Amino acid sequence: MRTLYLFLDDLRCDDNPGLASALAEGPVLPLYIRDLEADDRPHGAAAWYLHQALQALGDNLRRRDLTLHLRQGDTLATLRELIVDNHIDALFCARGYNPTARSRQQAIAALCKELGIAFRRFAGTLLYEPDSIENKSGEYFKVFTPFYKHCRQHSVRNPCTLPKEHAGVIRPKTAGLKLRDFNLLPHQPNWAKAFRDYWFTGERAVHTHLHSLMRDVVPAYAQQRDQLAASGTSFLSPLLRFGVLSPAQVWHEVSAQCAPDDAEPFLRQLVWREFQYHLLYHRQDLLTANFKSNFDAFPWREDKHALRRWQQGQTGYPVVDAAMRQLWHSGWMHNRARMIVASFLCKHLLLHWKHGADWFMDTLVDADLANNTLGWQWTAGSGADAAPYFRIFNPVTQAERFDPQGEYIHRWVPELRQLKPPHLFAPWDAPAEALSNAGIQLGEHYPHPLVDHRAARQRALDAYDDIKGASPQ
Ligand SMILES: Cc1cc2nc3c(=O)[nH]c(=O)nc-3n(C[C@H](O)[C@H](O)[C@H](O)COP(=O)(O)OP(=O)(O)OC[C@H]3O[C@@H](n4cnc5c(N)ncnc54)[C@H](O)[C@@H]3O)c2cc1C
Repeated sequence: MRTLYLFLDDLRCDDNPGLASALAEGPVLPLYIRDLEADDRPHGAAAWYLHQALQALGDNLRRRDLTLHLRQGDTLATLRELIVDNHIDALFCARGYNPTARSRQQAIAALCKELGIAFRRFAGTLLYEPDSIENKSGEYFKVFTPFYKHCRQHSVRNPCTLPKEHAGVIRPKTAGLKLRDFNLLPHQPNWAKAFRDYWFTGERAVHTHLHSLMRDVVPAYAQQRDQLAASGTSFLSPLLRFGVLSPAQVWHEVSAQCAPDDAEPFLRQLVWREFQYHLLYHRQDLLTANFKSNFDAFPWREDKHALRRWQQGQTGYPVVDAAMRQLWHSGWMHNRARMIVASFLCKHLLLHWKHGADWFMDTLVDADLANNTLGWQWTAGSGADAAPYFRIFNPVTQAERFDPQGEYIHRWVPELRQLKPPHLFAPWDAPAEALSNAGIQLGEHYPHPLVDHRAARQRALDAYDDIKGASPQ
């Protein structure tokens, strides 16, 4: 059987069940299509990462005597041409879960039916298929802890390998594109020039990274994961987003190599990723709609100036600014920092979570529709199992707790390097002498705070009072 394997968010060779099955059946045409009309196509920083992931995938396939065929254009038209011209008998791909991915797969299924070829979709992007998990009432889960307990009762499939021998690659009649033709990398200005210091996708580097996680990160994860300056988390998010690694690979590696008590807090976070996918799968409207419908009446403000200052890391709150600059510089932000800056945008500035979600989709290398949108809804208070709205992060006490030495702020906000804790966390309250010793004049070297914390907090609580009575769905 001649199979076309369409790569989607599964840009890997190891533990790729669809690719393994295709190779077991006969010759394969490995294909990636950059569809510029697709709503879920990566852009901004994620497009930069996609370039690296495709490059690594091409190398990995080449080492296995396979060639990645690259095309740009409408997915269905490209598939039709390749299927007909190359006498393809079957099309295989991984399952997709967001609304665009699902309608794309339905259209591909219809095309395959029309052309009389087989179509198979494979699990691989998630640990648990969203339609295989339901609560006791037969509905989807809306609260994380019962979801987690339910998932933990089910085993995770074992990772698979590619067959050692295969029937070779199908070389299409039409020439493919070179990766650079996708134009995924920025130039003039090259805002991603520092990204290379942080990110990698090559098979060997990925395995070395996994190995060091088991040794250094997972055993200390519970203690370190919230510390902003520590390398206390795995940095796996872009690899999982683009399927450079599968969650099943990570799950089994951690379960096999780490003590159960060390592994548990880390595995729990992998299940948070599942929960977000589960919610979006069952509520496809959540990309734009509030999970809690009383938030439809929330009195969001429009304030382009404040939004810009937040985006640029110029709010005058050092921990918020450090996080926003980390994002711009490296394409990633610490989870605790994501919660702090998201809370600041939605509650201190009263700006709609969609503004924040859009900025993150553009600037994160791990930008992921489910995790991002629902992470924003969770922090804004409109999401499933969200933090209570009245719990408004205080950016000063958050910095005191999670960056006590001020290392994180000093790293990303260099103009404050001479200012020490505790004044570093709230420069507007620092004695004039401390500021002058640190060479800082507020308003000149570093901004005055964009809003006063106490007043902003009260404004947010008043706004919430307006909608509290309206019954959430
Ligand atoms: C406002 C907001 C936006 C977010 N946007 C994204 C996004 O676009 N893409 C993305 O992958 N994650 C997103 N997250 C979740 C989380 O911040 C990142 O997954 C995490 O910071 C990635 O770093 P890590 O790989 O070192 O995580 P680790 O702490 O090492 O966790 C391991 C893995 O578990 C998963 N995970 C961890 N925390 C969460 C979480 N809170 N929700 C869902 N999955 C989680 C991720 O896949 C992560 O790679 C967002 C969170 C918030 C609050």
